[in-house]
Amino acid sequence: MDFTPKLPDIPTTIFTEMNRVAAAHKAINLGQGFPDFDMAPELISLVNNAMKQGHNQYAHMNGYAPLLEKLCAKFHLLYGATVSPESEITITPGGTYAIYTALTSILRRGDEVIVFEPAYDSYIPNIELNGAKAIPIAMRFPGYTIPWDEVGKRISKHTRVIIINSPHNPTGSVLRDADIAALRDLVAHTGIFIVSDEVYEHLIYDGLPHTSMLRYPDLFNRSLVCYSFGKTYSCTGWKLGYCVAPKKLMHEFRKVHQFNCFSCDAPKQVGLAAYLDRVEPYQTLGPAMQKKRDLFRQLLKHTPLKLVPSHGSYFECYKFGHFSQESDRDFALRLARDFGVAAIPVSAFYHKATDNRVIRFCFAKQESTLHEAAKRLSGLK
Ligand code: GLN
Repeated sequence: MDFTPKLPDIPTTIFTEMNRVAAAHKAINLGQGFPDFDMAPELISLVNNAMKQGHNQYAHMNGYAPLLEKLCAKFHLLYGATVSPESEITITPGGTYAIYTALTSILRRGDEVIVFEPAYDSYIPNIELNGAKAIPIAMRFPGYTIPWDEVGKRISKHTRVIIINSPHNPTGSVLRDADIAALRDLVAHTGIFIVSDEVYEHLIYDGLPHTSMLRYPDLFNRSLVCYSFGKTYSCTGWKLGYCVAPKKLMHEFRKVHQFNCFSCDAPKQVGLAAYLDRVEPYQTLGPAMQKKRDLFRQLLKHTPLKLVPSHGSYFECYKFGHFSQESDRDFALRLARDFGVAAIPVSAFYHKATDNRVIRFCFAKQESTLHEAAKRLSGLK
């Protein structure tokens, strides 16, 4: 039997690998991005109530209508966007699925997709599964900014999509007005679509605004914008998110979605719809997480690691090349084994391992966890 793998070079994800390493060494897991603190008890009660009230059968394939309406009201409030709850938004089982479905609904064999590296690990395999070709472009190190002049040179008649991600995983960099202007200039008068991964929209710090595609009608008109409830409500295990796109693109998105999972967890959607009446959780999330980032920064000043400043997301990256010539993978393994702290080597976010000797820590943790991790790292050399 001929068995030619569709993704011959793809290993198990670095997150699964580093979770295994963390467990083996009983390390504090600052690798995979998830909070170690409790989510809102009120939201748990609302979901329990929804189950007790009988919301236990299939939800509508687009999502639970009151939830869609409340999300659209939120887009208007935050980004001034007018999004139709009937035709321009679909609830998905997580942000990763939203990105995969967005790409699948528009990519054709031979299309090219521009991806900025380091990149969230699902993007390139998602492109390749669709018979398309990834065009990886390295962000400028160490600031992790996008070299728009190079992007202009790499656009071809085959370019179908540009994937953007702000706030960015793994670096925490954030797109600014100048980036939006450059993107706008490049795509104007082309047929290029934008897949915008905005799962960290509320995890943005230092007073910076989130440059959502929903703010710019001309860019939104060619965009599929992906979100995750897991990040906004500190419940990554719920695997629930949504995609927002103009009607003609959402129509295509739903054609794929209806045959892939069809509809998502009903009681969680009902609970979230009730919870979304409260604006406050996403107003307080950014400042609370910034406090954790600042604490972790302060604590790590007592180690030889050198900060690559982050302005958003769950993550902050640190350089170690000035005191160790190990590869970032070896360094991350040594941190877990000898110091009991797990991190993610940033080379894992490049299609061809580019090792700048940088590791990523997740600071979405209780203060006591961050203190203990920093204490363990204090002997690092
Ligand atoms: N987004 C999470 C991270 O970057 C991991 C999600 C996953 O394990 N696929 O850590």
